[in-house]
Amino acid sequence: MQPAEVYAWLTAIPNLGCDGFDTHVTASIIALSLWEAETGRLRPTDTIGLDGKNLVVLARETFPHAATVFARWESETASAPTEDEACLRELLRRNATHGSEFQCRLADMIARRCLRPNHLWQDLGLRNRQELGWLLLRHFEPLASKNRSDMKWKKFFYRTICRDEGFMLCSAPSCAECDDFDHCFGEEGGESLLAQTRRQADLRI
Ligand code: SF4
Repeated sequence: MQPAEVYAWLTAIPNLGCDGFDTHVTASIIALSLWEAETGRLRPTDTIGLDGKNLVVLARETFPHAATVFARWESETASAPTEDEACLRELLRRNATHGSEFQCRLADMIARRCLRPNHLWQDLGLRNRQELGWLLLRHFEPLASKNRSDMKWKKFFYRTICRDEGFMLCSAPSCAECDDFDHCFGEEGGESLLAQTRRQADLRI
């Protein structure tokens, strides 16, 4: 099943108990992660970054009509986070706007998806970078509001972790004089991965 189809299935019945934007974000992450698990012969818990128990609770609260499908993974663990991922989880959880269980689960999913190779908004299955900005400002406001110069989000997270640990990664005295400017601040455009996989599937028909 293509991720766009999974997204459509997850969001087919509006859940009045869950905010529409949060439903969209959760469905986007899960749709892309399930597809990666299927095509890469991985466990969904590994691509999503939640163990089975947390995945089932998240599904039950966000897409009750689809929750029974997720029950098959309830006893699965998720692979242990790498050191970088554990630092990201900790950074995001520490900066969760309300510290809710939903935000903790979101932190773990974002940390896992940060390990993928594309722009973060793409690896979360979102439609564009602006949606990622909204998501971070809503759920991780103390952290997101510090990215005043609009650095690329993955770069910003890792630089924040390094700075908090007392490391200085910048070799230039200011960003304007730095050869790495494009790595830190370059455009984060591109095509949504849900749209890309759908287009590639259409071309194969
Ligand atoms: S552009 Fe250069 S100076 Fe600015 S944050 Fe990036 S590495 Fe550091």
